[in-house]
Amino acid sequence: MADDSSFVFEQIRERLRFYGSLTSLGFPRSTEVEVPKPKPAPATPARHETLEEIRADLGECVRCRLSEKRTTIVFGVGNPKAELMFIGEGPGHEEDRQGIPFVGAAGQLLTKIIQAIDLTREQVYIANVVKCRPPNNREPEPDEAEACRPFLDRQIDAVRPKVICALGRVSALNLLRTDEGITRLRGRIFSYRGAKLVPTYHPAFLLRNPGKKRECWDDMKLIKRLLQGEEK
Ligand code: URA
Repeated sequence: MADDSSFVFEQIRERLRFYGSLTSLGFPRSTEVEVPKPKPAPATPARHETLEEIRADLGECVRCRLSEKRTTIVFGVGNPKAELMFIGEGPGHEEDRQGIPFVGAAGQLLTKIIQAIDLTREQVYIANVVKCRPPNNREPEPDEAEACRPFLDRQIDAVRPKVICALGRVSALNLLRTDEGITRLRGRIFSYRGAKLVPTYHPAFLLRNPGKKRECWDDMKLIKRLLQGEEK
């Protein structure tokens, strides 16, 4: 009898434990952590960095060996909301002295190329793959270009151009990570960070090979059509 009643009591206790584990709706209580409600979407999209903020972050950069011999960091110049951005290879002697891209002989030709499509230097944005002059005007080494790249990408993201014109082989191969030659790349439309990218010859190359200006002109006409939405 004593055994029977303890069996009954044990059954009652177990049933109470079970009921105790139920919610008012009769479901077992959840042991999971409550999932936070999703935050409402921000009224305005995330703010883009400004070129000034990127320049401030770059500081007196010593991220690669080009800093050792440079005079001035050549960050970039032009319209911070430009629809067209030119990207060259790296500063030369005059650019290193003045801190402005494309101000030497090649720069004067670039200015004429820009004017040929009815724009001014002030309307476009001009930058380079590397912001410090490589000694003796040698090409930037891959690790030097990589050290500078996050800043160039952030500049592109800040300006948000419709079209990027990569000036010359070094610019095109660094941006597109390809080893195809500029002769095969020029005049074609690529995509880069939301922009259309068209490689063409470097103005310094055109100064040495004036016969190639015709093809550069074709590339500029393509860029103009892209800017006007006449070409996809
Ligand atoms: N060549 C370049 O690639 N960039 C300059 O700024 C000047 C010459």
